[in-house]
Amino acid sequence: MIKNGKIHVIGLGPGDRQHMSERARTAILDSEVVIGYKTYIALVEDLLEGKEVIDSGMRKEVERCNLTVDKALDGKRVCIISSGDAGVYGMAGIMLEVKNERNADVEIEIIPGITAANAAAASLGAPMMHDFAVISLSDLLTDWELIKKRIECAAMGDFIISLYNPKSMGRVHQIEEARDILLKYKKPSTPVGIVKNAKRKGEEVVITDLAHMLNYPIDMLTVVMIGNGKTYVKNGKMITPRGYQL
Ligand code: SAH
Repeated sequence: MIKNGKIHVIGLGPGDRQHMSERARTAILDSEVVIGYKTYIALVEDLLEGKEVIDSGMRKEVERCNLTVDKALDGKRVCIISSGDAGVYGMAGIMLEVKNERNADVEIEIIPGITAANAAAASLGAPMMHDFAVISLSDLLTDWELIKKRIECAAMGDFIISLYNPKSMGRVHQIEEARDILLKYKKPSTPVGIVKNAKRKGEEVVITDLAHMLNYPIDMLTVVMIGNGKTYVKNGKMITPRGYQL
């Protein structure tokens, strides 16, 4: 009987190799099959020599996970890769769901990575020092009414808010609607950080405020970070005080 292999679900971090974990690197090196979206495969090209590499396009997530289970059931050590953290809008959840759905007897290890919000926060200064919410504006899999409700609740609760998937070519109104909701509870002068390609090649950092944020380019390679009621900007850095007395 062939012994079943193992699945590693890996978050690569924001992009630059120095921000990828050592555990992610060794797991990739140790695997026989590497599966992932093309752009992410390209980020680890140099680690792939001698391995079977299966790259696929966007929106083939379930297919990718089924293939991963097939390979593991064949006895292979397989890794499936996401950017950032695999457990934040990445492949970890769907991988476990597919395994359970198939009742597959394979071991899965999830390897964490630095998510985009952490990478963007570091480039902006220290905006996420207090309670924060992460909200994806993508309504492909989530009802827009629910997303709006979450934005509203997070704004009402004075959370620092990090918006993922803020705007794509075909999805432009969400960021405008989100901003309108935020302005119901937050001052127009609330600091906003816009970070494109955080901690990878081509990084662009903008610090502005709620009133002006839509004047800057925002796309799918961008995280938008909105401060809480105490966040301020000084010497080019966004700072959310935690409350220490100086
Ligand atoms: N699993 C990923 C998130 C995938 S959702 C993670 O944990 O980071 C995709 C969204 O993440 C993008 O639309 C963008 O909003 C954000 N994103 C991912 N990497 C980024 C980076 N390096 N810089 C800025 N935003 C990034």
